[in-house]
Amino acid sequence: MSEPLLANAHTILKDVFGYSSFRPLQEDVITSALDGKDSLVIMPTGGGKSMCFQLPALVQDGACLVISPLISLMRDQVEALKQNGVSSAYLNSSLTAPEQREIEEKFLSGEIKILYVSPEKLLTRDFYNVIRSVTLNLIAIDEAHCISQWGHDFRPEYTQLDFLKKQFPTVPIMALTATADKATRTDILNQLGILHAKTYLASFDRPNLNLTVRAAQGRIESIIGLIKQAPNESGIVYCLSRKSCETVAAKLQANGIDADFYHAGMPADVRNNTQERFIRDDLKVVCATIAFGMGIDKSNVRWVIHYNLPKNLESYYQEIGRAGRDGLDSKTLLFFSYADVVQLKQFMEDSPQKALLEAKLQRMQQFAEATTCRRRVLLSYFGEQMERDCGNCDVCRNPPEFMDGTILAQKALSACARTREQVGMRMLIDILRGSHRQEIVQLGYHEIKTYGAGRDHSYFEWQHFIGQFLNLGLFEIAFDNHNILRITETGKKALTGSIPVQITKPESEIERKERMKAP
Ligand code: ADP
Ligand code: ZN
Repeated sequence: MSEPLLANAHTILKDVFGYSSFRPLQEDVITSALDGKDSLVIMPTGGGKSMCFQLPALVQDGACLVISPLISLMRDQVEALKQNGVSSAYLNSSLTAPEQREIEEKFLSGEIKILYVSPEKLLTRDFYNVIRSVTLNLIAIDEAHCISQWGHDFRPEYTQLDFLKKQFPTVPIMALTATADKATRTDILNQLGILHAKTYLASFDRPNLNLTVRAAQGRIESIIGLIKQAPNESGIVYCLSRKSCETVAAKLQANGIDADFYHAGMPADVRNNTQERFIRDDLKVVCATIAFGMGIDKSNVRWVIHYNLPKNLESYYQEIGRAGRDGLDSKTLLFFSYADVVQLKQFMEDSPQKALLEAKLQRMQQFAEATTCRRRVLLSYFGEQMERDCGNCDVCRNPPEFMDGTILAQKALSACARTREQVGMRMLIDILRGSHRQEIVQLGYHEIKTYGAGRDHSYFEWQHFIGQFLNLGLFEIAFDNHNILRITETGKKALTGSIPVQITKPESEIERKERMKAP
Protein backbone atom coordinates (compact mmCIF):
# COMPACT_ATOMS: atom_id res chain seq x y z
CA MET A 1 0.00 0.00 0.00
CA SER A 2 2.94 2.31 0.60
CA GLU A 3 4.57 1.65 -2.78
CA PRO A 4 3.37 4.66 -4.76
CA LEU A 5 4.10 6.83 -1.73
CA LEU A 6 7.56 5.37 -1.46
CA ALA A 7 8.24 6.10 -5.12
CA ASN A 8 7.14 9.60 -4.37
CA ALA A 9 9.52 9.71 -1.41
CA HIS A 10 12.41 8.92 -3.79
CA THR A 11 11.37 11.76 -6.03
CA ILE A 12 11.16 14.21 -3.15
CA LEU A 13 14.52 13.05 -1.82
CA LYS A 14 16.03 14.10 -5.15
CA ASP A 15 13.93 17.11 -6.06
CA VAL A 16 13.54 18.74 -2.68
CA PHE A 17 16.65 17.67 -0.79
CA GLY A 18 18.97 17.01 -3.72
CA TYR A 19 20.13 13.54 -2.56
CA SER A 20 20.38 10.64 -4.95
CA SER A 21 19.86 7.74 -2.56
CA PHE A 22 18.79 6.86 0.95
CA ARG A 23 21.21 6.26 3.75
CA PRO A 24 21.12 2.84 5.41
CA LEU A 25 17.79 2.22 7.17
CA GLN A 26 16.14 5.47 6.06
CA GLU A 27 14.03 3.71 3.47
CA ASP A 28 12.91 1.00 5.90
CA VAL A 29 11.95 3.55 8.52
CA ILE A 30 10.07 5.68 6.01
CA THR A 31 8.19 2.65 4.70
CA SER A 32 7.16 1.71 8.19
CA ALA A 33 5.80 5.21 8.83
CA LEU A 34 3.92 5.16 5.52
CA ASP A 35 2.38 1.85 6.61
CA GLY A 36 1.13 3.58 9.75
CA LYS A 37 3.43 1.68 12.10
CA ASP A 38 5.18 2.93 15.22
CA SER A 39 8.96 2.77 15.28
CA LEU A 40 12.07 3.45 17.32
CA VAL A 41 14.97 4.74 15.25
CA ILE A 42 18.48 4.60 16.65
CA MET A 43 21.09 6.26 14.49
CA PRO A 44 24.35 7.96 15.37
CA THR A 45 24.45 11.74 15.22
CA GLY A 46 24.73 12.80 11.60
CA GLY A 47 23.19 9.52 10.48
CA GLY A 48 20.22 11.26 8.90
CA LYS A 49 17.40 10.88 11.38
CA SER A 50 15.49 13.97 10.28
CA MET A 51 14.88 12.62 6.79
CA CYS A 52 13.11 9.65 8.38
CA PHE A 53 10.19 11.81 9.51
CA GLN A 54 10.43 14.65 7.01
CA LEU A 55 9.82 12.50 3.96
CA PRO A 56 6.71 10.65 5.21
CA ALA A 57 5.38 14.05 6.25
CA LEU A 58 5.81 15.41 2.74
CA VAL A 59 4.46 12.55 0.68
CA GLN A 60 1.20 12.22 2.62
CA ASP A 61 -1.78 14.43 3.27
CA GLY A 62 -1.86 16.09 6.65
CA ALA A 63 0.95 17.37 8.81
CA CYS A 64 3.77 16.01 10.89
CA LEU A 65 4.33 17.05 14.47
CA VAL A 66 7.93 16.89 15.69
CA ILE A 67 8.61 17.06 19.42
CA SER A 68 12.09 18.33 20.11
CA PRO A 69 13.67 19.56 23.35
CA LEU A 70 16.34 21.77 21.80
CA ILE A 71 15.35 25.25 20.70
CA SER A 72 18.47 25.86 18.64
CA LEU A 73 18.10 22.56 16.82
CA MET A 74 14.48 23.29 15.96
CA ARG A 75 15.40 26.65 14.52
CA ASP A 76 18.20 25.15 12.39
CA GLN A 77 15.98 22.40 11.02
CA VAL A 78 13.14 24.76 10.21
CA GLU A 79 15.57 27.13 8.44
CA ALA A 80 16.98 24.25 6.41
CA LEU A 81 13.50 23.04 5.45
CA LYS A 82 12.41 26.52 4.43
CA GLN A 83 15.48 26.82 2.22
CA ASN A 84 14.35 23.66 0.47
CA GLY A 85 10.93 25.16 -0.02
CA VAL A 86 9.16 23.09 2.63
CA SER A 87 6.58 24.92 4.71
CA SER A 88 7.65 24.44 8.28
CA ALA A 89 7.66 26.26 11.62
CA TYR A 90 8.48 25.85 15.28
CA LEU A 91 6.69 26.65 18.50
CA ASN A 92 8.53 27.17 21.76
CA SER A 93 9.13 29.66 24.55
CA SER A 94 11.46 31.76 22.39
CA LEU A 95 8.41 33.13 20.54
CA THR A 96 5.97 35.77 21.81
CA ALA A 97 2.33 34.84 22.38
CA PRO A 98 1.13 36.61 19.19
CA GLU A 99 3.87 34.90 17.17
CA GLN A 100 2.77 31.56 18.54
CA ARG A 101 -0.86 32.27 17.74
CA GLU A 102 0.00 33.15 14.17
CA ILE A 103 1.78 29.84 13.68
CA GLU A 104 -1.09 27.94 15.27
CA GLU A 105 -3.50 29.62 12.82
CA LYS A 106 -1.35 28.57 9.89
CA PHE A 107 -1.10 25.05 11.25
CA LEU A 108 -4.89 24.86 11.60
CA SER A 109 -5.38 26.08 8.05
CA GLY A 110 -3.12 23.33 6.70
CA GLU A 111 -0.39 25.69 5.57
CA ILE A 112 2.34 24.02 7.63
CA LYS A 113 3.51 20.51 6.74
CA ILE A 114 6.08 20.03 9.48
CA LEU A 115 5.65 21.68 12.88
CA TYR A 116 8.35 21.47 15.54
CA VAL A 117 7.19 21.90 19.10
CA SER A 118 8.82 21.84 22.51
CA PRO A 119 7.43 19.36 25.06
CA GLU A 120 6.35 22.23 27.33
CA LYS A 121 4.26 23.74 24.59
CA LEU A 122 2.88 20.37 23.53
CA LEU A 123 1.58 19.75 27.03
CA THR A 124 -0.57 22.89 27.18
CA ARG A 125 -4.33 22.53 26.91
CA ASP A 126 -4.57 25.19 24.20
CA PHE A 127 -2.15 23.39 22.01
CA TYR A 128 -3.91 20.08 22.55
CA ASN A 129 -7.02 21.69 21.14
CA VAL A 130 -5.03 22.81 18.12
CA ILE A 131 -3.62 19.41 17.25
CA ARG A 132 -6.99 17.78 17.77
CA SER A 133 -8.30 19.86 14.91
CA VAL A 134 -5.54 18.98 12.46
CA THR A 135 -4.98 15.80 10.46
CA LEU A 136 -1.68 14.41 11.66
CA ASN A 137 0.16 11.95 9.45
CA LEU A 138 3.04 11.32 11.86
CA ILE A 139 4.26 12.22 15.34
CA ALA A 140 8.03 12.25 15.60
CA ILE A 141 9.73 12.38 18.99
CA ASP A 142 13.29 13.55 18.52
CA GLU A 143 15.96 13.02 21.20
CA ALA A 144 13.67 10.35 22.59
CA HIS A 145 16.24 9.25 25.17
CA CYS A 146 15.17 12.33 27.17
CA ILE A 147 12.18 10.26 28.25
CA SER A 148 14.33 7.90 30.24
CA GLN A 149 15.95 8.31 33.60
CA TRP A 150 18.55 5.94 32.21
CA GLY A 151 19.36 8.33 29.39
CA HIS A 152 21.94 11.02 29.90
CA ASP A 153 19.64 13.95 29.35
CA PHE A 154 16.46 13.25 31.26
CA ARG A 155 13.59 15.75 30.77
CA PRO A 156 10.65 15.33 33.13
CA GLU A 157 8.16 16.72 30.56
CA TYR A 158 9.04 13.86 28.26
CA THR A 159 7.50 11.37 30.67
CA GLN A 160 4.08 12.83 29.92
CA LEU A 161 4.20 12.04 26.23
CA ASP A 162 2.27 8.80 26.72
CA PHE A 163 -0.94 10.76 26.10
CA LEU A 164 -0.04 10.93 22.41
CA LYS A 165 -0.67 7.27 21.65
CA LYS A 166 -3.79 7.30 23.83
CA GLN A 167 -5.30 10.38 22.20
CA PHE A 168 -4.13 9.71 18.66
CA PRO A 169 -4.09 5.92 18.40
CA THR A 170 -4.11 5.84 14.59
CA VAL A 171 -1.25 8.29 14.06
CA PRO A 172 2.11 6.50 13.82
CA ILE A 173 4.73 7.50 16.35
CA MET A 174 8.40 7.60 15.45
CA ALA A 175 10.82 7.92 18.37
CA LEU A 176 14.38 8.88 17.38
CA THR A 177 17.63 8.96 19.34
CA ALA A 178 21.37 8.47 19.06
CA THR A 179 21.51 6.75 22.45
CA ALA A 180 21.05 3.07 22.23
CA ASP A 181 21.74 1.36 25.49
CA LYS A 182 19.19 -1.32 26.26
CA ALA A 183 17.67 0.17 29.39
CA THR A 184 16.97 3.45 27.61
CA ARG A 185 15.47 1.71 24.60
CA THR A 186 13.03 -0.35 26.61
CA ASP A 187 12.10 2.68 28.64
CA ILE A 188 11.29 4.72 25.53
CA LEU A 189 8.90 2.06 24.20
CA ASN A 190 7.30 1.56 27.59
CA GLN A 191 6.74 5.18 28.35
CA LEU A 192 5.36 6.04 24.95
CA GLY A 193 3.05 3.04 25.08
CA ILE A 194 4.36 1.65 21.80
CA LEU A 195 5.70 -1.72 22.93
CA HIS A 196 4.95 -3.31 19.57
CA ALA A 197 7.04 -0.70 17.71
CA LYS A 198 9.80 -1.99 15.50
CA THR A 199 13.31 -0.89 16.44
CA TYR A 200 15.66 0.25 13.67
CA LEU A 201 19.26 0.27 14.82
CA ALA A 202 21.74 1.81 12.39
CA SER A 203 25.39 0.90 12.61
CA PHE A 204 27.49 3.03 14.89
CA ASP A 205 30.70 1.81 13.36
CA ARG A 206 33.14 4.34 11.92
CA PRO A 207 35.78 2.04 10.49
CA ASN A 208 38.02 4.88 9.31
CA LEU A 209 38.64 6.02 12.89
CA ASN A 210 41.65 4.43 14.54
CA LEU A 211 41.01 3.97 18.26
CA THR A 212 43.96 4.21 20.61
CA VAL A 213 44.19 4.55 24.38
CA ARG A 214 47.34 5.36 26.36
CA ALA A 215 48.32 6.04 29.92
CA ALA A 216 48.24 9.75 30.66
CA GLN A 217 51.84 10.13 31.83
CA GLY A 218 53.71 12.45 29.50
CA ARG A 219 50.66 13.27 27.47
CA ILE A 220 51.78 16.77 26.47
CA GLU A 221 55.00 15.40 24.98
CA SER A 222 52.99 12.71 23.20
CA ILE A 223 50.58 15.26 21.76
CA ILE A 224 53.36 17.54 20.57
CA GLY A 225 55.12 14.59 18.95
CA LEU A 226 51.93 13.49 17.24
CA ILE A 227 51.11 16.93 15.87
CA LYS A 228 54.64 17.53 14.63
CA GLN A 229 54.42 14.40 12.51
CA ALA A 230 51.73 16.05 10.40
CA PRO A 231 51.63 19.76 11.22
CA ASN A 232 49.16 20.67 8.49
CA GLU A 233 46.39 18.43 9.70
CA SER A 234 43.41 19.69 11.69
CA GLY A 235 42.65 18.26 15.08
CA ILE A 236 40.85 18.76 18.37
CA VAL A 237 42.23 18.19 21.88
CA TYR A 238 39.33 17.73 24.31
CA CYS A 239 40.07 18.73 27.91
CA LEU A 240 37.94 18.45 31.00
CA SER A 241 38.38 21.95 32.39
CA ARG A 242 38.51 25.41 30.89
CA LYS A 243 41.81 25.96 32.61
CA SER A 244 43.43 22.93 31.03
CA CYS A 245 42.21 24.00 27.56
CA GLU A 246 44.17 27.19 28.08
CA THR A 247 47.31 25.60 29.51
CA VAL A 248 47.43 22.86 26.90
CA ALA A 249 46.97 25.41 24.09
CA ALA A 250 49.76 27.54 25.60
CA LYS A 251 52.14 24.59 25.73
CA LEU A 252 51.40 23.68 22.14
CA GLN A 253 51.90 27.28 21.04
CA ALA A 254 55.19 27.40 22.91
CA ASN A 255 56.23 24.46 20.75
CA GLY A 256 55.46 26.29 17.56
CA ILE A 257 52.08 24.65 16.97
CA ASP A 258 49.18 26.59 15.46
CA ALA A 259 46.81 26.04 18.40
CA ASP A 260 44.15 27.97 20.30
CA PHE A 261 41.56 27.22 22.96
CA TYR A 262 37.75 27.20 23.11
CA HIS A 263 35.40 26.95 26.07
CA ALA A 264 32.10 28.29 27.32
CA GLY A 265 33.78 30.80 29.64
CA MET A 266 34.99 32.96 26.74
CA PRO A 267 33.11 35.90 25.22
CA ALA A 268 30.88 34.65 22.41
CA ASP A 269 32.62 36.68 19.69
CA VAL A 270 36.08 35.37 20.58
CA ARG A 271 34.75 31.86 20.72
CA ASN A 272 32.98 32.13 17.39
CA ASN A 273 36.10 33.59 15.85
CA THR A 274 38.15 30.60 17.01
CA GLN A 275 35.56 28.22 15.64
CA GLU A 276 35.44 30.07 12.30
CA ARG A 277 39.21 30.02 11.92
CA PHE A 278 39.26 26.31 12.63
CA ILE A 279 36.54 25.61 10.07
CA ARG A 280 38.33 27.73 7.44
CA ASP A 281 41.63 25.88 8.13
CA ASP A 282 43.21 29.11 9.40
CA LEU A 283 43.76 27.38 12.72
CA LYS A 284 45.00 23.81 12.93
CA VAL A 285 44.46 22.77 16.51
CA VAL A 286 41.72 23.63 19.01
CA CYS A 287 42.03 22.70 22.68
CA ALA A 288 38.44 22.65 23.82
CA THR A 289 35.89 21.54 26.35
CA ILE A 290 32.96 19.45 25.17
CA ALA A 291 31.19 22.72 24.32
CA PHE A 292 33.16 22.63 21.07
CA GLY A 293 31.91 20.76 18.08
CA MET A 294 28.16 20.88 18.54
CA GLY A 295 26.83 21.49 15.09
CA ILE A 296 30.23 21.96 13.46
CA ASP A 297 30.31 20.41 10.06
CA LYS A 298 34.01 20.18 9.28
CA SER A 299 34.82 17.13 7.25
CA ASN A 300 38.61 17.09 7.34
CA VAL A 301 39.32 16.85 11.08
CA ARG A 302 42.14 14.29 10.94
CA TRP A 303 42.47 13.53 14.64
CA VAL A 304 40.73 13.90 17.99
CA ILE A 305 42.64 13.58 21.23
CA HIS A 306 41.09 13.23 24.67
CA TYR A 307 43.47 14.84 27.13
CA ASN A 308 41.10 13.66 29.86
CA LEU A 309 38.74 10.75 30.22
CA PRO A 310 35.19 11.52 28.98
CA LYS A 311 32.43 10.87 31.48
CA ASN A 312 30.73 8.17 29.43
CA LEU A 313 30.95 6.28 26.16
CA GLU A 314 28.20 8.35 24.54
CA SER A 315 30.29 11.50 24.94
CA TYR A 316 33.42 9.71 23.83
CA TYR A 317 31.72 8.38 20.72
CA GLN A 318 30.25 11.76 19.89
CA GLU A 319 33.58 13.53 20.29
CA ILE A 320 35.74 11.10 18.34
CA GLY A 321 32.98 11.18 15.72
CA ARG A 322 34.05 14.71 14.82
CA ALA A 323 37.13 13.21 13.17
CA GLY A 324 37.11 11.76 9.67
CA ARG A 325 33.68 12.84 8.50
CA ASP A 326 35.10 12.69 4.97
CA GLY A 327 35.61 8.96 5.42
CA LEU A 328 39.42 9.18 5.25
CA ASP A 329 41.62 7.50 7.83
CA SER A 330 41.72 9.50 11.04
CA LYS A 331 43.26 9.02 14.45
CA THR A 332 41.69 9.16 17.85
CA LEU A 333 43.71 8.99 21.02
CA LEU A 334 42.43 8.80 24.57
CA PHE A 335 44.68 9.44 27.56
CA PHE A 336 43.64 7.51 30.60
CA SER A 337 44.43 8.22 34.24
CA TYR A 338 42.90 7.26 37.54
CA ALA A 339 43.14 10.87 38.59
CA ASP A 340 40.46 11.65 35.99
CA VAL A 341 38.23 8.88 37.25
CA VAL A 342 38.55 10.31 40.73
CA GLN A 343 37.76 13.83 39.58
CA LEU A 344 34.77 12.79 37.47
CA LYS A 345 33.39 10.83 40.41
CA GLN A 346 33.65 13.92 42.55
CA PHE A 347 31.58 15.86 40.00
CA MET A 348 28.92 13.16 40.19
CA GLU A 349 28.85 13.08 43.97
CA ASP A 350 25.87 15.38 44.47
CA SER A 351 23.83 14.39 41.44
CA PRO A 352 20.46 12.74 42.00
CA GLN A 353 21.52 10.40 39.20
CA LYS A 354 24.77 9.49 40.90
CA ALA A 355 24.42 5.71 40.59
CA LEU A 356 23.64 5.91 36.89
CA LEU A 357 26.43 8.36 36.12
CA GLU A 358 28.92 6.21 38.00
CA ALA A 359 27.84 3.10 36.16
CA LYS A 360 28.37 4.91 32.86
CA LEU A 361 31.77 6.14 33.97
CA GLN A 362 32.66 2.60 34.88
CA ARG A 363 31.85 1.45 31.34
CA MET A 364 34.05 4.25 30.03
CA GLN A 365 36.85 3.07 32.27
CA GLN A 366 36.38 -0.52 31.14
CA PHE A 367 36.76 0.62 27.56
CA ALA A 368 39.98 2.48 28.39
CA GLU A 369 41.37 -0.57 30.17
CA ALA A 370 40.18 -3.15 27.66
CA THR A 371 42.60 -5.84 26.60
CA THR A 372 40.32 -6.94 23.74
CA CYS A 373 39.44 -5.12 20.50
CA ARG A 374 38.26 -1.67 21.55
CA ARG A 375 35.81 -1.26 18.71
CA ARG A 376 34.04 -4.39 19.87
CA VAL A 377 33.77 -2.97 23.37
CA LEU A 378 32.50 0.36 22.05
CA LEU A 379 29.98 -1.02 19.59
CA SER A 380 28.64 -3.58 22.01
CA TYR A 381 27.80 -0.67 24.28
CA PHE A 382 25.61 0.65 21.48
CA GLY A 383 23.94 -2.71 21.07
CA GLU A 384 25.95 -3.82 18.05
CA GLN A 385 27.89 -7.08 17.95
CA MET A 386 30.93 -7.37 15.68
CA GLU A 387 31.92 -10.74 14.38
CA ARG A 388 35.59 -9.99 13.99
CA ASP A 389 38.22 -7.86 15.67
CA CYS A 390 38.56 -4.55 13.88
CA GLY A 391 42.27 -4.42 13.09
CA ASN A 392 42.20 -0.64 13.51
CA CYS A 393 42.60 -0.15 17.25
CA ASP A 394 45.69 -0.25 19.44
CA VAL A 395 44.74 -3.60 20.97
CA CYS A 396 44.31 -5.23 17.55
CA ARG A 397 47.50 -3.72 16.21
CA ASN A 398 49.56 -4.37 19.26
CA PRO A 399 47.96 -7.04 21.43
CA PRO A 400 49.06 -6.80 25.06
CA GLU A 401 51.37 -9.43 26.48
CA PHE A 402 50.34 -11.01 29.74
CA MET A 403 52.52 -11.83 32.75
CA ASP A 404 52.13 -13.37 36.18
CA GLY A 405 51.50 -10.56 38.65
CA THR A 406 50.90 -12.64 41.77
CA ILE A 407 54.09 -11.68 43.63
CA LEU A 408 53.77 -8.02 42.64
CA ALA A 409 50.18 -7.99 43.85
CA GLN A 410 51.21 -9.54 47.14
CA LYS A 411 53.90 -6.91 47.65
CA ALA A 412 51.44 -4.09 47.01
CA LEU A 413 48.65 -5.61 49.07
CA SER A 414 50.96 -6.36 51.94
CA ALA A 415 52.40 -2.83 51.95
CA CYS A 416 48.88 -1.45 51.89
CA ALA A 417 47.82 -3.67 54.79
CA ARG A 418 50.86 -2.62 56.81
CA THR A 419 49.92 1.04 56.50
CA ARG A 420 46.54 -0.03 57.87
CA GLU A 421 45.04 0.98 54.51
CA GLN A 422 45.79 4.64 55.08
CA VAL A 423 47.57 5.61 51.84
CA GLY A 424 46.74 6.54 48.26
CA MET A 425 48.36 5.19 45.13
CA ARG A 426 51.28 7.61 45.07
CA MET A 427 52.31 6.97 48.66
CA LEU A 428 51.96 3.23 48.23
CA ILE A 429 54.27 3.27 45.22
CA ASP A 430 56.80 5.41 47.08
CA ILE A 431 56.78 2.93 49.95
CA LEU A 432 57.23 0.00 47.60
CA ARG A 433 60.09 1.75 45.84
CA GLY A 434 61.75 2.76 49.11
CA SER A 435 61.47 6.51 48.65
CA HIS A 436 63.18 8.70 51.25
CA ARG A 437 60.48 11.33 51.00
CA GLN A 438 60.17 13.21 54.27
CA GLU A 439 56.50 12.35 54.75
CA ILE A 440 57.28 8.65 54.55
CA VAL A 441 59.90 8.86 57.23
CA GLN A 442 57.68 11.06 59.41
CA LEU A 443 54.86 8.55 59.23
CA GLY A 444 57.26 5.70 59.97
CA TYR A 445 56.48 3.93 56.72
CA HIS A 446 60.20 3.34 56.09
CA GLU A 447 60.07 0.81 58.90
CA ILE A 448 57.42 -1.47 57.48
CA LYS A 449 58.51 -4.83 56.15
CA THR A 450 57.66 -4.27 52.49
CA TYR A 451 59.38 -0.87 52.33
CA GLY A 452 61.53 -0.96 49.19
CA ALA A 453 60.30 -4.42 48.21
CA GLY A 454 59.38 -3.13 44.75
CA ARG A 455 62.40 -0.97 43.96
CA ASP A 456 63.28 -3.04 40.90
CA HIS A 457 60.34 -1.46 39.06
CA SER A 458 59.95 2.17 38.00
CA TYR A 459 57.25 4.44 39.34
CA PHE A 460 55.58 4.25 35.96
CA GLU A 461 55.55 0.46 35.99
CA TRP A 462 54.03 0.41 39.44
CA GLN A 463 51.31 2.74 38.30
CA HIS A 464 50.55 0.28 35.57
CA PHE A 465 50.53 -2.66 38.00
CA ILE A 466 48.29 -1.02 40.54
CA GLY A 467 45.97 0.09 37.76
CA GLN A 468 45.68 -3.54 36.78
CA PHE A 469 45.08 -4.62 40.36
CA LEU A 470 42.30 -2.06 40.62
CA ASN A 471 40.92 -3.41 37.40
CA LEU A 472 40.94 -6.92 38.74
CA GLY A 473 39.22 -5.75 41.88
CA LEU A 474 42.07 -6.47 44.31
CA PHE A 475 41.99 -2.90 45.53
CA GLU A 476 39.30 -0.28 45.52
CA ILE A 477 39.66 3.46 45.80
CA ALA A 478 37.89 5.14 48.73
CA PHE A 479 36.56 8.13 46.85
CA ASP A 480 34.95 9.38 50.01
CA ASN A 481 38.20 9.28 51.97
CA HIS A 482 41.06 11.03 50.18
CA ASN A 483 41.17 8.33 47.54
CA ILE A 484 43.08 5.94 49.71
CA LEU A 485 43.42 2.35 48.57
CA ARG A 486 41.47 -0.37 50.32
CA ILE A 487 41.94 -4.11 50.01
CA THR A 488 38.90 -5.99 48.77
CA GLU A 489 37.83 -9.56 49.55
CA THR A 490 39.43 -10.65 46.27
CA GLY A 491 42.54 -8.72 47.31
CA LYS A 492 42.70 -10.71 50.53
CA LYS A 493 42.60 -13.94 48.55
CA ALA A 494 45.42 -12.75 46.31
CA LEU A 495 47.42 -11.74 49.37
CA THR A 496 47.21 -15.20 50.87
CA GLY A 497 48.06 -16.78 47.53
CA SER A 498 44.74 -18.54 47.07
CA ILE A 499 44.19 -16.97 43.65
CA PRO A 500 46.73 -16.22 40.91
CA VAL A 501 46.95 -12.73 39.41
CA GLN A 502 47.33 -12.36 35.67
CA ILE A 503 48.16 -8.87 34.33
CA THR A 504 49.34 -7.22 31.12
CA LYS A 505 52.98 -6.25 30.78
CA PRO A 506 53.83 -2.58 31.16
CA GLU A 507 55.53 -0.64 28.41
CA SER A 508 59.30 -0.81 28.72
CA GLU A 509 61.20 2.40 29.46
CA ILE A 510 62.59 2.31 25.93
CA GLU A 511 59.15 1.98 24.40
CA ARG A 512 57.93 4.79 26.57
CA LYS A 513 60.71 7.14 25.53
CA GLU A 514 60.13 6.24 21.88
CA ARG A 515 56.49 7.04 22.28
CA MET A 516 57.20 10.46 23.73
CA LYS A 517 59.34 11.27 20.73
CA ALA A 518 57.05 10.01 18.00
CA PRO A 519 53.71 8.53 18.87
P1 ADP B 1 20.89 13.34 12.73
O1 ADP B 1 19.60 14.02 13.10
O2 ADP B 1 20.76 11.86 12.67
O3 ADP B 1 22.05 13.77 13.56
P2 ADP B 1 20.57 14.78 10.28
O4 ADP B 1 19.17 14.40 10.04
O5 ADP B 1 20.84 16.16 10.79
O6 ADP B 1 21.25 13.74 11.25
O7 ADP B 1 21.38 14.50 8.96
C1 ADP B 1 22.76 14.72 8.89
C2 ADP B 1 23.15 15.19 7.51
O8 ADP B 1 22.97 14.15 6.55
C3 ADP B 1 22.30 16.35 7.03
O9 ADP B 1 23.15 17.30 6.43
C4 ADP B 1 21.35 15.71 6.03
O10 ADP B 1 20.91 16.63 5.08
C5 ADP B 1 22.22 14.63 5.44
N1 ADP B 1 21.45 13.53 4.86
C6 ADP B 1 20.36 12.95 5.38
N2 ADP B 1 19.92 11.96 4.57
C7 ADP B 1 20.74 11.93 3.50
C8 ADP B 1 20.81 11.13 2.31
N3 ADP B 1 19.93 10.15 2.06
N4 ADP B 1 21.81 11.37 1.46
C9 ADP B 1 22.71 12.35 1.70
N5 ADP B 1 22.69 13.14 2.79
C10 ADP B 1 21.72 12.93 3.69
ZN1 ZN C 1 40.22 -3.63 17.26
